[in-house]
Amino acid sequence: CEKIAIGQKYVRQTNVYDGVVYDFVTHQECKDVAHELKMYDGCDDSGLDGESFRVDIECYVYANHYDDEKNDICSDWQQLSHYEIAKKILEELKTEK
Ligand SMILES: [Zn+2]
Repeated sequence: CEKIAIGQKYVRQTNVYDGVVYDFVTHQECKDVAHELKMYDGCDDSGLDGESFRVDIECYVYANHYDDEKNDICSDWQQLSHYEIAKKILEELKTEK
């Protein structure tokens, strides 16, 4: 979603792609959200990048938290960073289960 700040929980994964080794670092919450929303299913061999992740969570908010009367996304979902949105989606997915 964005740069990981000091003190935030993250996951580091070492991958090999095309013979190149690289580290993939993500927030724990973002990893969980990507998994819950099955984002990894739709991406190609190069994996899920930050931009597709942000687009996907924005789509989720539009699909699930759009206020038809206001013609805008619900106020409690506005002005959040992508990391905050990811955490909020995760909470929501957990309470639905
Ligand atoms: Zn993140």
